[in-house]
Amino acid sequence: MTQAAEHTILTDREGPAAEVINPHGMAPICLVCEHASAFIPASLTDLGLAPEHRHSHAALDIGGRDLALALSHALDAPLVAARISRLVYDCNRPPDARDAIPSRSEVIDVPGNSDLSETDRAARVSEVYEPFRSLLATTLDGFKAPPVMMTLHTFTPTWFGVPRNVELGLLHDVDDSLASTMLDAAPAGVDVRLNAPYDATDGVTHTLREHANPRGLLNVMIEVRNDLVSDKTGVARFADILGDMLTRAMARQVSS
Ligand SMILES: [Zn+2]
Repeated sequence: MTQAAEHTILTDREGPAAEVINPHGMAPICLVCEHASAFIPASLTDLGLAPEHRHSHAALDIGGRDLALALSHALDAPLVAARISRLVYDCNRPPDARDAIPSRSEVIDVPGNSDLSETDRAARVSEVYEPFRSLLATTLDGFKAPPVMMTLHTFTPTWFGVPRNVELGLLHDVDDSLASTMLDAAPAGVDVRLNAPYDATDGVTHTLREHANPRGLLNVMIEVRNDLVSDKTGVARFADILGDMLTRAMARQVSS
């Protein structure tokens, strides 16, 4: 059976589920953006979402892809990005996670994700998660020397009605060395915090666990408040801030 024949969600024209941008970038850095896209394949009929929710923070990390692209360009680093909405499958979750295919996200119901059969779930995994996972693994294996891995995310300024003051979160899994040295390199005037607004106990470090930890790669997960990267000026500002923090932290890692 050909691969195309196995597809029930994504057509050839809509795929692939993931892409690598700047694949020949020279920096020893692999950037990752799991929530880069709001795209929902036509076969899923918008998952039954209202139009105002299809491009909301529930569907993607607003500004995340633009920020990742700016950093990929500034650092000359390869970027692996998902091309499918996290409401179809959240590539930063393992298949057995309850919220990998969420039927509810914050205050939004996702009708197209309720009462899924095992076959439906398996198709999401095989057509969205597995290609992303495989492309990231291949990209990491293609580096001449072990790269640093930085995953890029954005978060909504208000969560269940509660405002969030943190502007930039540096999240880590078992190895806090890169997040901690980046925190030391944070500029004045930006509210930068370790493990905010989430931490590893929320299950958000799956990509780090799956790809960076087994390879022994220095790694960090970035969370930027999305109102700060909602336009070109904000994206450029945070690409500068993060590029500088990462570069200085990597220099310290090498010299320590
Ligand atoms: Zn995210």
